[in-house]
Amino acid sequence: MTTPDRMNKETVRDESRQPENASSLGRPIRLLIVDDEEIMRTFLNEVLRDEGYEIELAASGREAVDLLGAATFDIVLTDIVMPELDGLGVVAAANELPYEVDVIVMTGYASMETAVESMKLGAVDYITKPFNIDQIRIIVANRVKERSLKKQAAEGEFYKELSRRDGLTDLYNHRFLHQLLETEISRAERYNRSVSLLMIDIDNFKRFNDTHGHPVGDKVLKQMGHTLRRVSRKCDYVARYGGEEFAIIVPEVSTGAAARMAERVCAMVDETEFEGEEVMPLGRLTISIGVATFPAHASSKGELIEHADQALYKAKAAGRNQVVVYGAGRVN
Ligand code: GH3
Ligand code: MG
Ligand code: MG
Repeated sequence: MTTPDRMNKETVRDESRQPENASSLGRPIRLLIVDDEEIMRTFLNEVLRDEGYEIELAASGREAVDLLGAATFDIVLTDIVMPELDGLGVVAAANELPYEVDVIVMTGYASMETAVESMKLGAVDYITKPFNIDQIRIIVANRVKERSLKKQAAEGEFYKELSRRDGLTDLYNHRFLHQLLETEISRAERYNRSVSLLMIDIDNFKRFNDTHGHPVGDKVLKQMGHTLRRVSRKCDYVARYGGEEFAIIVPEVSTGAAARMAERVCAMVDETEFEGEEVMPLGRLTISIGVATFPAHASSKGELIEHADQALYKAKAAGRNQVVVYGAGRVN
C-alpha cells in the first residue's frame, strides 16, 4: 500500500492560511478525489477541504465516471492503479464530458510510465506518491489559478466582442466601424489596394415608424441587418452606422466591383419582404446607397465617409431606391 508522506496533516496545518484560491472562479471550486484506498481518500479530503474546495470522493474509476456525468467538477485527482477502470480510464472519460475538467493523476514510481501516458491522453499534471501536503496544495492551487486566468481571458474576449456590436441588430456598431475603416485604409495603403465604403439609408423610414410604431420599426431594422449580412461577402464588414443607417466596408475590390455589389444589396432589399412595408410610397421597403472608394475618391477615413455620404445624399435626391458612386452618376 502506498501511504502519503507525513500523513498526519495536523503537524503541518497552518490555521492562518486563507482559502481565497478556492473561490477565484467566483463560485465554489469542485474537486473529485478518486482512489481505491480509503486512507488516501480520507487524507486528501481533509487536506483539500481545509483549503476551501468542495469535495466528492469516489472509491473506483467506475464510480468516478458516474459522478463526473452526474455533476460538474473543476478538477479530478485520480489514482492510476485501480482495479477495473484505472486512472487512464478516468482521463479518457473526462475527455468525453461536455464541460472542461482538469485531471491530475497520482502515481507511485512504479507506474511512472502510465503517468506519462495519462498526460498524453489529456491529464494536465501528475503527482508522484509518496507526496507531502504542500505539494498537493500547490499543484491543485496552480491548476485553479490557471482555470481562473482562462476564464478571465474568455470573459475579456466576450466583453470586447460585445462592445463592438450594436445591441439591436448585432452588427458592428458605429465606434467599431471607425476602427475597422482605419485598419482597412492602412492596409490598402500598405499593399496598394482599394477599400470601398457603402453608406446605406432606409428610404422614408419615418413614415414607416409613424404608421407602425417604433417596435415594428425595430423589427425591420433587425431584418435589414440580416439581409445586409446575407448579401455581403465574408470579408466585408457590415455595421449599423446609427438609427436607420447602415454601412458596409468592402475591402480589396475596385470601385466598379463595389458599385456592383451595392446594386446587388439594393436589389436584394427591394426584393425582400418586410413586415408592414405596404405603407411605403412604392409599397416596398427600399434603401439608397452612396459609394466611395479609397484611394480613388478619398485620401483619408474622414474624406471617405464624407464622400460616401455625399453620394448617398445624391441617391436620395435622385429619387431613392438606387446607388450613386461618388463623383459619378447613378449606377445602372
Ligand atoms: P429618407 O428617405 O430621406 O432617408 O427619409 P427617412 O424618413 O428615412 O429619414 P429621416 O432621417 O427623416 O427619418 C429617419 C427615421 O428613422 C426617424 C425615426 O423614426 C427612424 N429611426 C431612427 N432610428 C431608429 C431606431 O433605432 N428604431 C426605429 N424603430 N426607428 C428609428
Ligand atoms: Mg437617415
Ligand atoms: Mg432614411
